[in-house]
Amino acid sequence: MHGITIVGGGIAGLALAATLDSGRFHVTVHEQRNTLPTVETSLAMWPEAQQALATVGILPEIQAAGSAFEAMALRDVSGKAWFRAEVAGVIGVSRADLLRLLDAAVPETVARVFGAVTSLPGPGLVVGADGVHSVVRRERWGPRSLERLSPYLALRGIIDEPVPVDEGGEYWGRGELFGIAPASRQRTYWYASYRSDLGPGGVDVAAALDLTRRRFSGKAPGIGRVLAGAAPEATLAQRIWTVPALRRYTRDGTVLVGDAAHGMTPNLGRGACEALVDSVVLAGLLNSRPLPEALRAYNKRRVVRSQALRVASSAMTRLVLAESAQPLRDRILSVAGRLDRST
Ligand SMILES: Cc1cc2nc3c(=O)[nH]c(=O)nc-3n(C[C@H](O)[C@H](O)[C@H](O)COP(=O)(O)OP(=O)(O)OC[C@H]3O[C@@H](n4cnc5c(N)ncnc54)[C@H](O)[C@@H]3O)c2cc1C
Repeated sequence: MHGITIVGGGIAGLALAATLDSGRFHVTVHEQRNTLPTVETSLAMWPEAQQALATVGILPEIQAAGSAFEAMALRDVSGKAWFRAEVAGVIGVSRADLLRLLDAAVPETVARVFGAVTSLPGPGLVVGADGVHSVVRRERWGPRSLERLSPYLALRGIIDEPVPVDEGGEYWGRGELFGIAPASRQRTYWYASYRSDLGPGGVDVAAALDLTRRRFSGKAPGIGRVLAGAAPEATLAQRIWTVPALRRYTRDGTVLVGDAAHGMTPNLGRGACEALVDSVVLAGLLNSRPLPEALRAYNKRRVVRSQALRVASSAMTRLVLAESAQPLRDRILSVAGRLDRST
């Protein structure tokens, strides 16, 4: 049997371990965390990701644990809606539920090693599923592939109250974003982003929450209500990092999946979805083709699409968090919203 070593037991690593043919490969997963994350956040799962979850065999459980997105409003920070749109086919799922279900789908034959990997393990194929700060990418792709720090801070969390229909959606201000969406079990998922010097590592969550309350004070009533209910122990705060453009995801016995390959800004809500698709595509190819051919086909199927999403996400971030261009953006959105309502 061929050996496959997966560095990182997050979304990408677990999905790969769950779908590789255990009769064909001896699979080992290295994960630095001993436990699953305790702070709950929500991830939007688009239809392609749901197909990947069906291949893993956990789509019914995800559908039962998650909540369907039904409508989405785009608003200014006072709460006035520019647009309201129906959203079909997207499920919001708690990251903790997703990781738990992926973890349970990994066969017993997969070896688990807990602890941080600091240099490339081997022999056999090494998969970098170790996220935006990937050791595998750094070791094989070198210093030009190092992750880049964006100027933006992101906070997110879940509060225990349902979101009123007329307060859900995304609020875009001058260099600031606030999001309110339904979460499973009648709760509310919220997120916020803006420029900040906090961090970059180990952001103090209470300080970040304080800063966010001050920043959004006096804005839409829905934002105030959500922030009043947010607690530091139920909030994550981190600076956003991204990965520079890569032309190939394979190099000298290694292959990258998920954020290790294409870590992007979160504004399209696609990073975890693409991580799932990478892993299911890679496993399908490795299970059915000789190794060199499988890796060539993986590059062909995944690089252009995921790099295009990486670029589109960063364009979206510039639009959502626009500063000097914000008045013009808002005028265009306001006119477009009026035209949309009149047709
Ligand atoms: C604010 C925010 C909101 C987001 N919202 C969405 C959304 O709505 N929808 C969506 O699709 N995506 C979203 N994303 C993106 C999504 O979180 C990531 O794309 C996804 O987590 C990538 O999964 P991954 O498995 O590739 O990497 P990670 O989730 O980073 O997992 C990497 C794993 O590797 C482990 N690891 C790292 N280094 C080592 C090492 N040296 N040794 C051993 N183990 C190691 C880590 O502990 C971790 O478990 C969002 C991201 C942010 C920041």
